[in-house]
Amino acid sequence: MVTAQTFAPQGIEVKNPNDGSTVGHVPEYGAAEVDQAIARARTASRRWGALSHVQRRKDLAAFRRGLATQAETLATLVHRETGKPKVDAMSEVLLAIQHVAHAASRAEEVLATRTVSSGLMANLKSTVSYHPLGVIGVIGPWNYPIFTPMGSIAYALAAGNAVVFKPSELTPLVAVEVAKIAQQTLSVPDVLQVVTGRGPAGAALARGAVDKIAFTGSPATGRKVMMAAAERLTPVLLELGGKDPMIVLPDADLDKAAEAAVWGAMTNAGQACVSIERCYVHDAVYDRFVDKVVAEAREVRFGADPGAHIGAITLPAQVEIIKRHLEDARDKGARFLLGGPDAIEGNMVPPAVVVDVTDEMQLMQDETFGPVLPIARVKDGDEALSRANRSRYGLGSAVWGKSGVRELADKIVSGMTTINTVLAFGSVPTLPFGGIGESGFGRIHGDEGLREFSRTKSIVEQRFTIPGMNFFTFKVPPNLYDQLKGMAEKLYGTAVLDKASEVLKKLHIL
Ligand code: NAD
Repeated sequence: MVTAQTFAPQGIEVKNPNDGSTVGHVPEYGAAEVDQAIARARTASRRWGALSHVQRRKDLAAFRRGLATQAETLATLVHRETGKPKVDAMSEVLLAIQHVAHAASRAEEVLATRTVSSGLMANLKSTVSYHPLGVIGVIGPWNYPIFTPMGSIAYALAAGNAVVFKPSELTPLVAVEVAKIAQQTLSVPDVLQVVTGRGPAGAALARGAVDKIAFTGSPATGRKVMMAAAERLTPVLLELGGKDPMIVLPDADLDKAAEAAVWGAMTNAGQACVSIERCYVHDAVYDRFVDKVVAEAREVRFGADPGAHIGAITLPAQVEIIKRHLEDARDKGARFLLGGPDAIEGNMVPPAVVVDVTDEMQLMQDETFGPVLPIARVKDGDEALSRANRSRYGLGSAVWGKSGVRELADKIVSGMTTINTVLAFGSVPTLPFGGIGESGFGRIHGDEGLREFSRTKSIVEQRFTIPGMNFFTFKVPPNLYDQLKGMAEKLYGTAVLDKASEVLKKLHIL
C-alpha cells in the first residue's frame, strides 16, 4: 500500500528549495499505517530470512540493476527535492547503488558461521553464527535522501531482514521510487516498504514492533527515538550530526589542503553530517592557507542555476541557525573574509570564510550545516589536537601534512578520519561509518554494517570428555578445588603459558 501506488495529490507537498515549485505529493501516513507496514514486513521477513545468501544475492543483484537503470530518474528526484546540483545527486545515487552491490557481495562470507577457540575447554567446539534480526525500521534525513538510508537498508536486506523506511518529509519522492524498484525486483513482496510521513510516523516506527531502529538525523530527534525505542527495549543505531575538525600541519600541501577544505565545508551547501565545520591551522602556514582558501571559495558558484556548485539550503529553518551562528561569531569578534550573515538572501547562503574565531563561538561548537568555513590559528599540532577533540561530537575528521600525520589521525577522537583528503570514508563501502558522543553510535557500511543488522548466536558443543575435567556436573572429583587452583597458578601465575602460547594458539586452544 505504501509502496508503488499512484498517490492522490494530498498529504505532503514536496517543494524544490531552489525555486519553490512543487515537485510532487505523497500521503502523510500515521501510526496505524506504520503498524500495518511493520506487520507486513514481519511476514516478509520470515520468507526473506529463510532464503540462502545465494538467493538473496541474486535478488539484490536484480534490485541493484533496477536502481542503476533508473539512476537518471532517481538523481532527478534527489536534485529537485533537495535543491542540490544534478552532479551531486548522481554521485549520491551511484554511492547508494555501490552499497547494495557491496553488502550483497559480502554477506555470505561475513555472516558465515565461525569456529572460535574454546580456551581452556579444549574438549568443546565453539561456534558463532549470525541470523537476521527480523524487521528493521529505518528513519532517514533529507540531506542525502538515497545515499544515507541505503547505507542501512542495503546491509539490513543483505543480512536477511525486512525493512520499513520512513524518509524525511522534505525528500520522500526518491524513497517512493526506490520502494517501487524493490517491489519490481525482489522476489519477496514487502521486504522493503516506504512509509511517507512526518515526525509522528517516525515516532510510531521507533516505538513499533521492530527489531532494530536505524536512525539518521539530528541529535535532538535521535534522543526522542532512543526514548521511544526504550519502551520495548528495541536496540537503536544512531547516525547523528557532526562538527568535523580539519587540522593543517606546516608540511601539508597547502594548495590541495585549501581546495579540499573549501569543498569539504561547502559541498552540498555544507549540509553533510561529515562537512568540515572547523579548521585548525598551524601558525607557520596559517596566513598562506587562509589566502588560498579565500581564493578557492571565491570560485564556488552558488545559486539555483544548473551550473552552480551549491544550491539553496533545503530546510528553511536551517537558514536561521546558520545566520545565528554567523551573527554570534561576529558579535564575539570574528571577521568574515567572504560571506557573512548580511550576505544571506532567502534560503540562499553564499560561501563564508570566517577567521579570528574562538572555541567559545557557536560556530565552533554546534553543527552549522551551511557553506561556512571557520579557520583558527594554532601554535602546534598538540594545540590543534586538543581543540579538535574538545567537542561533544565525534563523527569525522581530517588531518593534512606529512610528518606525524598518521599518529595524529589515530589520536583524533572520532569515528572516521581522512589523511590528506576529506570526507572520503563515506565513499568507501568497506569502511565502517559512524560516530561517538553526540554523533551517535553503532556502525553502518562494511562488514560491521552487516553484523549490526544480525543476531549473534553462540553455540558450544561437547566433542569428547576429559576424565576429571567435566565441570558441568555435580559429579566432580573430590580434589577438583586443588586441580583448579593448580591450573590457575601453573597456567596463569608462571611464564609457562607465555612460552607455550604460540603452540597453543596454533592448536586454537588460546
Ligand atoms: P531530523 O532529526 O529533523 O529528522 C530526521 C528524520 O526523523 C526525519 O525523517 C523526520 O521526519 C524524523 N522525525 C522527526 N521527529 C521524529 C520523532 N519524534 N521520532 C522519530 N522520527 C522523527 O534531521 P534532518 O534535519 O532530517 O537531518 C539533518 C541531521 O541529520 C543533521 O544533524 C545531520 O548531521 C544528520 N545526518 C547525519 C548523518 C550520519 O550519517 N551521521 C547523515 C546525514 C545527516
